[in-house]
Amino acid sequence: MSPTYDFLTDEYSPVRVRQRDDQYAHEVVTPIPYNGILVSKAIVDGGERKAGKYTEPQRARLYRMGVRRFFRLPPEIVTLGDCGAFNYINEEYPPYNVAEVVDFYEECGFDEGVSIDHVIFGYESDADEKQADPAWVKRRHISLDLAEDFLAELRKRRSRLIPVGAAQGWSPASYADSVNRLQQMGYRRIALGGMVPLKTAEILACLEEIEKIRAPETELHLLGITRVESMELFANFGVRSFDSTSAFRQAFMDDRNNYHTRDSMFTAVRVPQVDGNPALKRQILSGAVSQAEAVVAERECLRLLRGYDQGNVRIDDVLDALVNYERIVNTSKKRSYIDLYRRTLEETPWKSCSCALCQKHGIEIIIFRGSERNKRRGFHNLTILRSKMNDIDFA
Ligand SMILES: [Zn+2]
Repeated sequence: MSPTYDFLTDEYSPVRVRQRDDQYAHEVVTPIPYNGILVSKAIVDGGERKAGKYTEPQRARLYRMGVRRFFRLPPEIVTLGDCGAFNYINEEYPPYNVAEVVDFYEECGFDEGVSIDHVIFGYESDADEKQADPAWVKRRHISLDLAEDFLAELRKRRSRLIPVGAAQGWSPASYADSVNRLQQMGYRRIALGGMVPLKTAEILACLEEIEKIRAPETELHLLGITRVESMELFANFGVRSFDSTSAFRQAFMDDRNNYHTRDSMFTAVRVPQVDGNPALKRQILSGAVSQAEAVVAERECLRLLRGYDQGNVRIDDVLDALVNYERIVNTSKKRSYIDLYRRTLEETPWKSCSCALCQKHGIEIIIFRGSERNKRRGFHNLTILRSKMNDIDFA
């Protein structure tokens, strides 16, 4: 996020330099809402068809400065690299070789790196190797072979990188066998991949099966899993870490659960920018929406929301303005959010949040509008996730 962004004029500072002046969540909220960050090679490099999330100069700077300096990480934050297997899920074979992945991890100076894996996109709890889809069987063996090569490459280079073996499977037994083999190769940190689509009961069934062969010193990482409510159960089976972007992304991707609190979720109040929202811009250009009318309604919503936050405006006046703006921009007859907004505004959850962002920005943080508000709400959600995690017993 950009710390100097002006919410009243919705403008960036004219001297802002992206990335250099912008701040990450670990630079904005305390305590830092995570213990580590995961960076995927596929996201940094981009794929054959897809461009990466990084510009070419940024990518070069990440390799040159290393992950710690690039993200301005404090020493206590752990860095984990992986290949981003979901990005090449449709390929028959992972597009990277072991040497170039180890180069990526070493040049960027990661603390830990995950072996190259190939995601299996199905779950069939009872299928053995003969019954399972041959493509799944092949992908599991590819992942195991690459894990063995990965370890050999690190040994050859006398690398200080902590290796994390990636285990794939389609069933409790196949996951357990993968973990077993990775342990035999010498891995003490094992990441379980491909579990994002699984139901919690299925993840638990896998963990129970893995537990039968898990060495006491083996620590498990769940790739891409949030399920905070199940983390304590998972922890009983050797799960020591997980990574997830969902609390952050829900701030602006979820239909209604945008603002999290310790025991609830609230819908953010949508006040799209007439000047800056691509969908709205198209509607104005096509003549479906009157720009002048939209601008007046948009400003009125913001004025009344701020007045409400200060106690000078009645809730029904705010909601009337929101209904009016919704009517003007909602030409595609999407459903109304007004009832959800009423709850958000009645309960004013941002007023009771102690995070630095809610304290500083007040009601702006629950306004769904442009990336600066939306990212701050995402950072707020991370602080809530952190405080929920603090209650979990990882003994
Ligand atoms: Zn907050």
